[in-house]
Amino acid sequence: MHRRILVPGALAAASVLLAIPASAAGASPGAPGIGDPYYPAYGNGGYDVSHYDLRLTYQPATDRLEGTATVLARTTQDLSSFDLDFLLDVSEVRVNGVTASFAASGEHELVVTPKSPLVKGTPVTVVVRYAGVPSTKSAYGFSTWHRTPDGAVAADEPESAWWWFPSNDHPLDKATYDVSVAVPDGTRAISNGTLRSTTSRLGWTRYNWRQDKPQATYLATLALGRFDITTSTSEGGVPVVNAYSRDLGDDDGAARASVERTGEIVDWLSGYFGPYPFGSAGGYVPNTTTSYALETQTRVFYSPRQFANGSNTSVVVHELAHQWYGDSVSLKGWRDIWLNEGFARYAQWLWSEHEGEGTAQELADYVYASHPADDPFWTVKPGDPGAENQFDTAVYDRGALAVQALRNEIGDDAFFAVLKGWPRTYAYGSADIADFRAYAEQVSGKPLEALFDTWLFRPSKPASGARTVAAPVRPKSWQKIAATNSVHQN
Ligand SMILES: [Zn+2]
Repeated sequence: MHRRILVPGALAAASVLLAIPASAAGASPGAPGIGDPYYPAYGNGGYDVSHYDLRLTYQPATDRLEGTATVLARTTQDLSSFDLDFLLDVSEVRVNGVTASFAASGEHELVVTPKSPLVKGTPVTVVVRYAGVPSTKSAYGFSTWHRTPDGAVAADEPESAWWWFPSNDHPLDKATYDVSVAVPDGTRAISNGTLRSTTSRLGWTRYNWRQDKPQATYLATLALGRFDITTSTSEGGVPVVNAYSRDLGDDDGAARASVERTGEIVDWLSGYFGPYPFGSAGGYVPNTTTSYALETQTRVFYSPRQFANGSNTSVVVHELAHQWYGDSVSLKGWRDIWLNEGFARYAQWLWSEHEGEGTAQELADYVYASHPADDPFWTVKPGDPGAENQFDTAVYDRGALAVQALRNEIGDDAFFAVLKGWPRTYAYGSADIADFRAYAEQVSGKPLEALFDTWLFRPSKPASGARTVAAPVRPKSWQKIAATNSVHQN
């Protein structure tokens, strides 16, 4: 009733404001991609997101997901329309409270046209109401929504957001998250960050997760199913939340024997990389048939298959290393993947040394000697592998070799200063390989262009490692490290 009295005045004031869209007269559509040459349609142009608020309901029996996304952003140009990356069915979009028109376009674009153009540099609130069965949706002929007998999981790289929330899907545009999911009692919803609260009502339980540090869209994860949750605090004071599907069968023990060491490994990595950058750590193991693991921020995704041969702390080290190298410091573009994988693999080498199963230098010697000069392994340039080779073994192994070559070039003191200083210098931001080289040159005082060129940007076997052994013995840790090579297979 109050509305009837207040609306005429408010409406008049509002229409005065809306009738003059200031400098937006020459507004144009935002680009359908953010400008990444590896994935031209990924992400979008014209705005920058600061926060995603996702309020969802999920029914495991039918795989139906419905909800509302409220996206807080700021325009970076005058916009007549803009895109979100999304696949589910949209019923309503509002921009700054006003109904907007929308249409699906391309493989995964949702084009939103507000009633009035948006002015550059102004805050925008976009509300998207949607519903759908994610497992029935695909783009480019594939889906990364992993259905399980008891629910589903969203965790993949570089794309997984399209199946569960509308976004600017590229690591250049990081944001904070509130993810609230209602599921039938007995089912649990796992996501990033900290579980702020749960509420139960009429047979449904709502889980409220918060990620309060910037997070790339591909590092947002959602798992729905029957999980056991464990909580603890590391010796260094980092809260740890892990979750295990109740249906892991024979892999259950090995999964727990690995992932329950998260706190210990976070503290150990902090010795090399500096303080853990987030408010909580942990991982989850759903009952998927996938084979890979993924560094989803604060809550790592592990396929049960990673533990099929017993415990594997090496994969835990790899994914937790990414919390510094990949998650807190994100890529500017997907060609910079070496900054993620070269260092996560190198952390496994350091762990091998810690466990007495082979030093980093021994692993480097072994990798170098294992691939003769005519092996296609050397044709992949870790510094610019191409989208088709983004997750090639060479990005990991030759990538870690490059890290060892840097260590040998600048010496241990400068090397470990770089290793620890980099995540602090670019914390919560994005960087590229040129930024890293400049930083390493600044810390070491040495020119490194030739070294980076040789190890990262030439499609051939470097003439010599910093040290080469003719026929190095295979380090004890090699098999477990190689077993984590399935980290990314769609
Ligand atoms: Zn990795």
